[in-house]
Amino acid sequence: MKMNRVLQSVVLVISLLVFAGWLPESNAAAQSEQDATAQAGSSVVRLSVEPEDRAAATIGTSEARYHLFLADTPAAKGVAADFPPIKFPRPVMLDSESPTADSEFALPSFVASPPQPAFYPADVTRLVSTGKTITSAQSHPIFVNCSPAGGSCWGNPTVFLTNLGASSFIHLVDQYVGLTTVNRYTVGTSFTASVTIFAGTSGVPTLSENDILALVHSAAKIAGTSYGHVYHVFIPHGVDTCMDEGPCYSPDDPATFAFCAYHFTVRFSDIGSVYYTVQPFQDVAGCVVPQPSPNGALIDSTSSTLSHELFESITDPDINTGFRALNSGAVQGSEIGDLCGGVLFGIFPLDSKKYEIQLEYSNFYHACASTP
Ligand SMILES: [Zn+2]
Repeated sequence: MKMNRVLQSVVLVISLLVFAGWLPESNAAAQSEQDATAQAGSSVVRLSVEPEDRAAATIGTSEARYHLFLADTPAAKGVAADFPPIKFPRPVMLDSESPTADSEFALPSFVASPPQPAFYPADVTRLVSTGKTITSAQSHPIFVNCSPAGGSCWGNPTVFLTNLGASSFIHLVDQYVGLTTVNRYTVGTSFTASVTIFAGTSGVPTLSENDILALVHSAAKIAGTSYGHVYHVFIPHGVDTCMDEGPCYSPDDPATFAFCAYHFTVRFSDIGSVYYTVQPFQDVAGCVVPQPSPNGALIDSTSSTLSHELFESITDPDINTGFRALNSGAVQGSEIGDLCGGVLFGIFPLDSKKYEIQLEYSNFYHACASTP
């Protein structure tokens, strides 16, 4: 009885799709649903982007906001890291005539120098007092056009996320999120996706913001939305990605190559808010970490950028409300990864495996740090 009904619905759906002229895509869709069902309970699901994901990405979004991790490239100079642009408050100026200057803002007469190497970029504060942080979440890698387990095309991101989640380094965020419990940041379902990527204006295969939104929508339908899930979209070697506003990850085109990665939030009208990061191939000039490094350029560069974006997703998930440096002219508006990115790398163990990755900014130490 049940089976008959299922068959009837399948026939009905197929007829409707044939009628609508969508058969090729609907085959892919059915395939993906079978795969997803067959593998439910295992940790890897094969995705394919369905017409409804494309529709959700193009017409069903609101509150799209992102924060770029700018590359060490000439084209990054002058590029705004935030979209939509954020007007940060002017840095507090100490005015000796002001009655509050001495009591609230003046530095003590003696400040000890920190042990070197160290520097004071600026402490971070919430941009909006009610701004949210991510107190615990599953990370969900989405591996695009390269399916070996664990994302080996990018090094070992699944292993890295697991080690990071079990490390003391991740507890650097405790001071911002207000919890100290262990195992709050884990790895959930991973996804592999095969997608057709068209050449962009530079002639190189290029993913648009909409392409990525559709991928994320297809995964978030399965694994979940809101603050408990952070998706990480891994883009293969030789593929560029550009923001609608112009800046790109495009190592082949120096004129537009402005960022290494970013984190993004969006509200889909059907499934709600989703948080994700985009991880292009990091073993390229402008994004690579200094060599030699314990695991080589690919693993350590991928890991460094992935941790940068995960830390910032945790401390500023909604982009315009979370922790930012608000009292420094030079780095005004920076998030905790930006403050330490490309400046100082550390080699230290994450749950006993050593990586060379960037540090993150700690208000507790007033410095870039590798411990809580
Ligand atoms: Zn950043």
